[in-house]
Amino acid sequence: MADQINHGRRPAGAEFEALTVPVVRASTVVFPSAAAFEGRYADFYDGYTYGLYGTPTTKALETEVAALAGAGHALLVPSGQAALTLACLALLRPGEGGLVPDTAYGPLRAFCEGMLRPHGILVSYYDPLVGSGVAGLIDGSTRLVMIESPGSNTMEVQDVRAIAAAARERGALVAADNTWATALLFNPLDHGADLTVEALSKYAGGHADVLMGAITTRDEAVYRRLKDMARLLGLGVSPDDCSLVLRGLQTLPIRLERSGESALEIAMWLAGRPEVDRVLHPALPTCPGHETWARDFKGSSGVFSVVLRGDLRGRLHHLVDGLERFRIGASWGGTQSLAAVQDPTSGRTATCWTDGPVLRLAIGLEPPDELVADLAQAFSRIAGPTPSFRSTARETTP
Ligand SMILES: *Cc1c(COP(=O)(O)O)cnc(C)c1O
Repeated sequence: MADQINHGRRPAGAEFEALTVPVVRASTVVFPSAAAFEGRYADFYDGYTYGLYGTPTTKALETEVAALAGAGHALLVPSGQAALTLACLALLRPGEGGLVPDTAYGPLRAFCEGMLRPHGILVSYYDPLVGSGVAGLIDGSTRLVMIESPGSNTMEVQDVRAIAAAARERGALVAADNTWATALLFNPLDHGADLTVEALSKYAGGHADVLMGAITTRDEAVYRRLKDMARLLGLGVSPDDCSLVLRGLQTLPIRLERSGESALEIAMWLAGRPEVDRVLHPALPTCPGHETWARDFKGSSGVFSVVLRGDLRGRLHHLVDGLERFRIGASWGGTQSLAAVQDPTSGRTATCWTDGPVLRLAIGLEPPDELVADLAQAFSRIAGPTPSFRSTARETTP
């Protein structure tokens, strides 16, 4: 019976070639000789040693991601969050310091507090609009300056050039989370950053069905430190997931363009609404750092935030619950538009946010006029009285 099991025999026959990158799944990688097996880690950074560290499918995606950023190297990890944490773990040791923008992705901040600080890494937060003033925050222990531009939820556009120049002068590396723009709209490596971090789960994957993160760099030594740490932590990605991201990349430019155009149209419509105090969209002058966006970015993607007029902020949940086309949820970059209420009030220490919760919108690929109509009907609902606790209770009483 055992003879009927195919022990890796390949069918003989004609050559086959598809347009797509084949999915190569593997744990074991086989070697031609005992000596080749023994010396396999000599080729660790560029070759194949074990399925966890790459197969031809993961390498194909790494090559694409690196090429998009004009980087020599890309490293794939299981999520955007893993890309952020790997960068910190690989580049910071106990006693060394990291600077993180006050507006950073929430789970990064949680990692800094829950993991880095208890392990003796000196984390401090800075005003994302500090620009070259970051020089005054970099001391002898600072080894890494994180950037996220625009900032999560409040969308401050950072002066990557000024921050990177100040960091370089003082011997600190700069890592930029470029998830919002992707390398198509802004390339931090061209503005002085040493590495970029991106949640491929968002625009690259593009269909809300895959989780992956990437780090790109032009610095061979940085790449090796990242790859070494990924190996220590046992981080790897599934070739099946890579094949989904490779598929997503084929339509990335056209999806990003469509979602960016729609988002800008909707943002401008929102800016004219009486219910809205201001729209935090990098392409609008009401967004902090707009001039930096205009100087550095080739365009805008589909995520932005809205601050409602003060007296309506208490009705933000009511507004979001009234949306019909927009779905409620986190993560973004998929085909469907999302709305979420985010409250930056607590959890900031270097800056002060006093405008309460914001409405964050992630625009997908639906016709923009349908999304505008949906927002308009939801606004008309909050114009009326808010249902009180008492009347809700009565409705549910049989
Ligand atoms: C979503 C996101 C991440 C994390 O990505 P996951 O793949 O969901 O872990 C990191 N940074 C930014 C700016 C994000 O929006």
